[in-house]
Parts: sequence; C-alpha cells; structure tokens
Amino acid sequence: MDSIMQTEKKCFICARRKYLEEHHIFGGTANRKKSEKHGLKVWLCYEDHRGNSGVHFNRVVDLALKAAGQKKFEETHTREEFRKEFGKSWL
Ligand SMILES: [Zn+2]
Ligand SMILES: [Zn+2]
Repeated sequence: MDSIMQTEKKCFICARRKYLEEHHIFGGTANRKKSEKHGLKVWLCYEDHRGNSGVHFNRVVDLALKAAGQKKFEETHTREEFRKEFGKSWL
C-alpha cells in the first residue's frame, strides 16, 4: 500500500527530494509487513535514513516517527486495534 503519511515524495524530515529511500516505520519481520499493509512508511533522504544521525541510528527520531505513525493509524482505528496489530503502544 502507498504511504498514508505523505502525499508528496520528499524526505519526511528535511523535505529534500534527492537520494530518497523508503522507511517502514515499524520494523522487525512482522511489523515491517504490517507497516507495508497499512501504508505506515515514509520517504527519507539517505542522511535521515541511514546516516549517522538517521532514524536507524537515532532513537529520538525513531520514536518520533513511531509516534507520528501511530497517530496517523489512530485517525481511522482505535488504540486497542493499534496494540493488537503492532504489539504495543508508542503513545
Ligand atoms: Zn532528509
Ligand atoms: Zn528504514
């Protein structure tokens, strides 16, 4: 499914449009599939994705993206549904 987080293809963090990579907000084998199913993914530039301070190496950014993803999911689902699907709440 397409991202429900963004309508435009640009870095979710810095809005750059170069070197974009797709990031699934909830990782791990099961949750990555569920992120795909629900469109909980964002475009990130290489730096914000896999750079030294990118989401894969920066817990603060990771948690902020997870909170944003859960909020978006909860626009159309309950918190209980989120918990059931992803195993816990980040909010
Ligand atoms: Zn960026
Ligand atoms: Zn990623």
